[in-house]
Amino acid sequence: MGPLKRVAVIGTGLGGLSATLVLTHNGYDVTVFERNLHPGGKAGNLEIGGYRFDTGPSILTMPFVIDRLFDSVGESRGDHLEFVRLDPITRYFFPDGTALDAFADPERFSAEVQEKLDVPGDRVRAYLRRCSEIYSLAGDLFLFEDLGRSLFSLKALWGVLNSWRLDLFRTMHQVNDARLKEKRLVQLFDRYATYNGSDPYRISGIFNMIQHVEYDLGSYAVKGGIFAIPKALHRLSEEKGANFRFGEEVESILVERGRARGVITGSKHERFDIVLSNSDVVHTYDKLLDDGSSRTARRYARMEPSVSGAVFYIGIRKAFDDLLVNNIFFSPDYEREFKDIFERRRCPSDPTVYVNITSKVDPEDAPRGCENWFVLVNAPWDSGQDWRSEMERTRSSVIERVGKALGCDLTKEVEVVGTLDPSGIQKRYLTNKGSIYGVSSNDRNAAFLRQGSRARGYEHLYFAGGSAHPGGGMPLVISSGMIAARSIIKREK
Ligand SMILES: Cc1cc2nc3c(=O)[nH]c(=O)nc-3n(C[C@H](O)[C@H](O)[C@H](O)COP(=O)(O)OP(=O)(O)OC[C@H]3O[C@@H](n4cnc5c(N)ncnc54)[C@H](O)[C@@H]3O)c2cc1C
Repeated sequence: MGPLKRVAVIGTGLGGLSATLVLTHNGYDVTVFERNLHPGGKAGNLEIGGYRFDTGPSILTMPFVIDRLFDSVGESRGDHLEFVRLDPITRYFFPDGTALDAFADPERFSAEVQEKLDVPGDRVRAYLRRCSEIYSLAGDLFLFEDLGRSLFSLKALWGVLNSWRLDLFRTMHQVNDARLKEKRLVQLFDRYATYNGSDPYRISGIFNMIQHVEYDLGSYAVKGGIFAIPKALHRLSEEKGANFRFGEEVESILVERGRARGVITGSKHERFDIVLSNSDVVHTYDKLLDDGSSRTARRYARMEPSVSGAVFYIGIRKAFDDLLVNNIFFSPDYEREFKDIFERRRCPSDPTVYVNITSKVDPEDAPRGCENWFVLVNAPWDSGQDWRSEMERTRSSVIERVGKALGCDLTKEVEVVGTLDPSGIQKRYLTNKGSIYGVSSNDRNAAFLRQGSRARGYEHLYFAGGSAHPGGGMPLVISSGMIAARSIIKREK
């Protein structure tokens, strides 16, 4: 056997960490460069005045992807992470005063919909069955395979032949409107477009498979917070021999005759056999490989980014029994919200507000009798907006909408507030224009145009992360790390 192959991983997002774990377990000599001081990327940790917050993701779906990752390195996930299945998954507050619990149990959920929205339970059950049919036809292919390779496979052909059953050529909203026929219920299910940062009025109906993922496969909180996931992957990778270098930014990737040969950090050249970028694809082609003038760089830069977010980390000096771990406060005009985001490029004037409270699962995340509110409003990607005024305006809307729904003056209950705006997301994680999920899926072809695990035009260079295949969101990003590691193991012996 020859010497161990040396791999440089750029970034400790969940994609980079997953790839690192698998590669290290398979005998590669992995060095990970991370410009920030902690692992996790967007899935980070924040403490303000006695309150703990996860900085980004809060809803864990498809936990079996994480189980598979641990299995693949001879470990049991349960020895490292504890997941808490949520039922109800989310409490929805509508502007007309209706509050509805989305139960994971389909019988209870359809009974709730019948009682609160006067929609026959059968209609909801039939709708969810259809969502699960789409997942079983297309899910495995689009989420776990190296698409470049499988594009011409029989399975792909099967998917294309079934395109009418997949609702490929209608938008998510059109499908939901036709099937559910009740405005509030349509809004509830249209919301799933935001799980990959897209617009329900443009994204294809095939993405209704996301509802199956949440209702049938389950939605979870994590004991110790979402940050427990990167922490566990980092610890395990280190135990297996990976070398982490925090606070070191990779300035560029060394390339010789079309081959990635190492990285440059702090103006020092370091040679590696293989480079895996967990940095955003646009940033990688633009800043780490060339000056952004190559065809590939321009091609990725043209793709529409996903939504970004206006995030408020709020310590509340009161406990609200009316709230669950996940809560949504809907706006009256959903379509206008997405026009604000994608066309007018401003924070919605009357936004839907998401509130996640981990102290309902982990009481130590907030002082006794208090709650840690992670508040997220969908926002446009950064194109130089005045974020200070956008955030102030959004914060007032949040306080007003949520306070009204809960029947109290929230300003009196706020103890501490931290914020993160799209330009902050861009600067902290170097993501393209501050997008949360990489490329949006508004374009029907996005899945096929997204960067695959192997770089175009460069040998020994690979990608993992939300801007690469299969896309953003924790399970997909972890899947991308596993796909990239498999691809390296297969090609780079
Ligand atoms: C506000 C918010 C809410 C979200 N909610 C959810 C949710 O509820 N559920 C869900 O599943 N997903 C959610 N997501 C999305 C999820 O967080 C991401 O899809 C996922 O964490 C991205 O992982 P990644 O591997 O792409 O890496 P990233 O998290 O983007 O991390 C990349 C890392 O690379 C580092 N890096 C980049 N360039 C360099 C360089 N040149 N040198 C050194 N280091 C570099 C960065 O510092 C960063 O640490 C949310 C995201 C945000 C921001």
